[in-house]
Amino acid sequence: MSILSPSSAKFQGHVPVLIVGGGGCGLTAALAAKQSGAEVLVLERDQTALGTTAMSTGLIPAPGSRFQRAKNIDDSPEIFAADIMTKTKNATDYDMALHLAREGAPTVEWLADYCNVPLSLVDSFLYPGHAKMRMHGTPNRTGSELMGALHQAIERDSIDVITEAQVTDLFADDVKRIHGLRMTRPDGSQEDLECDALILACCGFAGSREMLQEYIPEILEATFFGHPGNKGDAIKWGRDLGADIADIHAYQGHGGLAYGQGIPILWAHIVRGGFQVNAYGVRFSNEARGYSEQAVDIVAQPGHWAWSIFDQKIHDAMKEFDDYQDAIKADCIRTANTDDELCAITGLPPALKDTLAQVAEMAHGQRVDAFGRDFTKGWVLEAPFRAVKVSGALFHTQGGLVVDKNARVLRADKTPLPNLFAGGGAARGISGPGNSGYLAGNGLLAATALGRLAGIAAAKLVSGQGR
Ligand SMILES: Cc1cc2nc3c(=O)[nH]c(=O)nc-3n(C[C@H](O)[C@H](O)[C@H](O)COP(=O)(O)OP(=O)(O)OC[C@H]3O[C@@H](n4cnc5c(N)ncnc54)[C@H](O)[C@@H]3O)c2cc1C
Repeated sequence: MSILSPSSAKFQGHVPVLIVGGGGCGLTAALAAKQSGAEVLVLERDQTALGTTAMSTGLIPAPGSRFQRAKNIDDSPEIFAADIMTKTKNATDYDMALHLAREGAPTVEWLADYCNVPLSLVDSFLYPGHAKMRMHGTPNRTGSELMGALHQAIERDSIDVITEAQVTDLFADDVKRIHGLRMTRPDGSQEDLECDALILACCGFAGSREMLQEYIPEILEATFFGHPGNKGDAIKWGRDLGADIADIHAYQGHGGLAYGQGIPILWAHIVRGGFQVNAYGVRFSNEARGYSEQAVDIVAQPGHWAWSIFDQKIHDAMKEFDDYQDAIKADCIRTANTDDELCAITGLPPALKDTLAQVAEMAHGQRVDAFGRDFTKGWVLEAPFRAVKVSGALFHTQGGLVVDKNARVLRADKTPLPNLFAGGGAARGISGPGNSGYLAGNGLLAATALGRLAGIAAAKLVSGQGR
């Protein structure tokens, strides 16, 4: 991963806008650039361009969208930005949070109208930290459906995606203008391509144990459930180009990955009244703060696992999510008709029965939670109970290249590099500096909104209007 002198390049072709990475950010960037009149090419290291995006639930927050209005949900970018600031304890850039919040609705409507992504509002439950129901997703609520629709639009627009093309080096001159890149094919052969603008859409460094060891050692013991091909290349290049890098310790964790199965159990099961216990049958945190920070709390428990306990009503409500259906099919979800049976099916000690009774008291408002959770906001759990064993997981990293409102990569002095753009996991997110600032949906908001903005701005730049 080096920055090489353009004089050492053997360019075999020229494409005005090159994009590194074919996940959600890369494909939206390509579609927007092409729509704006630029010729564009996507380079993807894998055999199929899917990325973390295809592993995701595919939910994108978009305050003020027409989908919300149709359901009479009164929301605004300002309300969403306030939620982001609360979640990050004011430790992210407010202007960027508000900017992305404002871009949410135009992005989602563009995805629906221009890219034909079949989106609808998730109005069945409120994600933790969101004041309004503002998540938009595909019919089965999967990132693979989102990527499927984006690929169809890519094909319709005759955009080329070269797979098995790992970008290994960039060519940049003294003023850090990118002249092109070098890609390496599986047989070791290399090809140099020239460009006028480059978009880094190759996500963060969750797939690099080396970088995790350096920047986020607390999450090394968690189960990695992200895209292994994301090795921090954008950050390495950015560093060498003098780009500003921020929030390098930030990441999206998850406290509900079905143990040994790698199926995410959506946090709705907790928000609606479920709770988690460790091997002693006792709770260990306020699970409702958010799923990201819960990952580290689980990693700190004996065996690095926990059991999520909920009930039949929650189980039925969860069935709208494809991932949950997968968990049912994989036999991860256990059933118990009594608290004794719950101990038997989980193998947990009788202390679990006390925990269950305490949670019931808290749900009825008769007891205050030592961890500060308000159980009266959820449902009161009733038999039959449901249980799933989970591990704490790392999904993706949130720190990265600092960009402006057009996704241009900035130097530390806030001036933009001449022709470099970044979005999605390659760019600094709006999650603050650690694990507790990640608000559901902010990964794909940064991927799709910044991807689209990068595509539009890069097209302008190469047409001469954006110089
Ligand atoms: C289980 C799970 C559920 C999630 N659910 C949600 C959700 O509902 N909502 C939400 O907002 N976020 C969610 N996220 C987070 C979200 O998926 C990510 O924030 C988002 O997908 C990042 O998009 P991206 O395009 O930046 O990266 P990716 O989708 O990972 O794409 C990056 C691509 O770059 C390629 N690449 C890397 N390096 C190179 C290189 N050197 N050369 C060529 N190609 C390269 C990779 O192979 C990859 O295909 C979830 C994540 C997980 C794991």
